[in-house]
Amino acid sequence: MKSKDAADIIIFDLDKTLSESKVPLDPDMSALLCALLRVKKVAVISGAAFKQFEAQFLRHLTCPPEILKNLFLLPTNGASLYEYKDGWTRLYHFAFTDKEKKKIFDAFEKAFEKTNFQKPEKTYGTLIEDRDTQITFSGLGSDAPLSLKEPWDPDHAKRKALAAALAEELPDFSISIGGATSIDVTRKGVDKAYGIAELMSRFGYEPKRVFYVGDALFPGGNDASVISLGVKYQSVEKGGVGETKHIIREILSKKIS
Ligand SMILES: [Mg+2]
Repeated sequence: MKSKDAADIIIFDLDKTLSESKVPLDPDMSALLCALLRVKKVAVISGAAFKQFEAQFLRHLTCPPEILKNLFLLPTNGASLYEYKDGWTRLYHFAFTDKEKKKIFDAFEKAFEKTNFQKPEKTYGTLIEDRDTQITFSGLGSDAPLSLKEPWDPDHAKRKALAAALAEELPDFSISIGGATSIDVTRKGVDKAYGIAELMSRFGYEPKRVFYVGDALFPGGNDASVISLGVKYQSVEKGGVGETKHIIREILSKKIS
């Protein structure tokens, strides 16, 4: 367990790692993260757009502003990067062109046909959402309740079939599976590894001093690209949010006692 204690920065995935999928951060996790931010740099990277970070994460993170300078945010799988300087400041942002967006939306329709995917009779929110730097498919819609999302594709089988069909249509884009029902499409080469590499080079972090925690480190999962960076990592695929809390408590006990 030395690797995470020796890390200069701890990077977390959001959905199913810091909170349930699209569910607000709970007070216990907020308190743990605030304690961690006092002793370590922290980054959060997710397929979620910045707006969703605000609603799900920032609004429920009850730290004093002076420690937020230790926090970095990477929405839409690293397609943009934010730091805190008297407010959240965007350092870069790779938006799709309208032409690229149309190509991706069309590719989803083709992938649905090819895999005989039946769109749900009732969707909650948007089925395919334009997040500007990323297009995200959510199997039951962007605002579906967790109780419906969890049993929808627990073994990722539905999404693996769709993602494979999409990859044939979109060879010039990155496609990954995340959250409970999502498939994310970003610019080719823009994935979590890209975002974290940018963060590491801009702020001077060595791979071996970076510790990553995520639930989707399996092949095709939206945390898997991170492994290529040579950083230390731990999967919470089985233990979820509870296991993440345990990891943070372990780091804090080494650092503070
Ligand atoms: Mg996740």
